[in-house]
Amino acid sequence: MDALRSIRGMNDILPTDATHWQFLEKSVAELLERYGYGELRLPLVEPTALFSRSIGEVTDIVEKEMYSFEDRNGDSMSLRPEGTAGCVRAAIQNNLIANPCRLWYSGPMFRYERPQKGRQRQFHQIGAEIFGYATPDADAELIILLARLWRILGIADAVTLEINSIGSSEARAAYRAALVAYLEQHQEALDEDSQRRLLSNPLRILDSKNPDTQALLNDAPALEEYLDEESVEHFATLRAYLDTAGVSYTVNPRLVRGLDYYNKTVFEWVTDKLGAQGTVCAGGRYDGLVQQLGGRSTPGVGFAMGMERLLLMLEACGKLPDARSPDIFVVTSGTDALHAAIAAVEQLRDAQPSLSIVQQLGGGSFRSQMKKADRSGATLALLWGEDEVAAGEVTVKPLRDGQEQLRLSVASLAETIPSLLQQHTH
Ligand code: ATP
Ligand code: MG
Repeated sequence: MDALRSIRGMNDILPTDATHWQFLEKSVAELLERYGYGELRLPLVEPTALFSRSIGEVTDIVEKEMYSFEDRNGDSMSLRPEGTAGCVRAAIQNNLIANPCRLWYSGPMFRYERPQKGRQRQFHQIGAEIFGYATPDADAELIILLARLWRILGIADAVTLEINSIGSSEARAAYRAALVAYLEQHQEALDEDSQRRLLSNPLRILDSKNPDTQALLNDAPALEEYLDEESVEHFATLRAYLDTAGVSYTVNPRLVRGLDYYNKTVFEWVTDKLGAQGTVCAGGRYDGLVQQLGGRSTPGVGFAMGMERLLLMLEACGKLPDARSPDIFVVTSGTDALHAAIAAVEQLRDAQPSLSIVQQLGGGSFRSQMKKADRSGATLALLWGEDEVAAGEVTVKPLRDGQEQLRLSVASLAETIPSLLQQHTH
């Protein structure tokens, strides 16, 4: 029978990689907690309407990337393609936004895309949202926090920040009309994708990757000229805060983001280390979204980072932590020895809970067990045979530095092990 395989673009994360994931997740979670963000754990499945009403009907995500299905009642639901919509839904439903609050979430997201390096169908994000502040110090906090995260991870030199303001929805509507009027005069020069977007989502044409389209845009009306005064001021103040914090950025006037709910600030952290999948983190302000989803009008701003892309970057920059080897590998010969080892090792774990100790299971010859001890990368082997059991002792064999083995009484093991480990760690 053919073995079943995972779904294309939905990958297993194996133990060696999982230690890297744990490292990254822990780094991000600790930093967010230190800035006062509380974790929100959200369902993976939400009503389809939540996403069409927030992300927007004519966005790539809702048009062609969602995993939507009917449950047994015939209700339409979708695997979440991103976290903000669910976060806003939960914040409204649980009245978390009665007062301003900072929230973060993490976990898998699902989009039906063409799988490639840095692009999966099940991928993972960590995101953060601030609710209740219309002032640009909130936008700044998120960006400053991210700049610190890149420094902590050692990848600050490999990412750059692009920011833009897309203004109020009224300003955008006026600009959209002007942009469409201009592009309609040059319709034949637009690529197929952009022609389609001209009708559905013309602002997205601004971040077209097509060089001809980009050239055409050089003479197009600029979004900046249509911005409302409040947005202009918000953007200037945000930039001043970033200057104060020493966070450098470039203003990219064509940055618009692919989701409908943004207004004013949008930003992306990009890298040239990942080819076409260069955006590792993206976000922006969404002052209308809470109300749009049925809550009391509440401003919001947030970001989401792509964990797979960040891990690829950490790898490219040589910043992944080394695999951790066990401290101790336990080898026994015979049933009595195994009993003695189980008892002694459990006492050792009581006394030194942070030690990593791997017990050889299933017995085997002394030689083959020693080979496994060596391959485990452990610093020390603890050996029990008939002699040791009879004497109430254990043999300690340093595995990494070629030093002589020694015998200890089992009673002194817990006390002696820490200094032996220190002595023989290479
Ligand atoms: P892209 O332009 O690369 O498709 P996006 O604008 O669709 O990205 P967002 O919805 O803003 O992405 O999601 C935020 C981040 O999540 C992205 O910057 C990226 O790091 C990550 N991301 C998005 N889609 C995927 C995917 N299919 N696989 C892996 N990571 C992804
Ligand atoms: Mg996308």
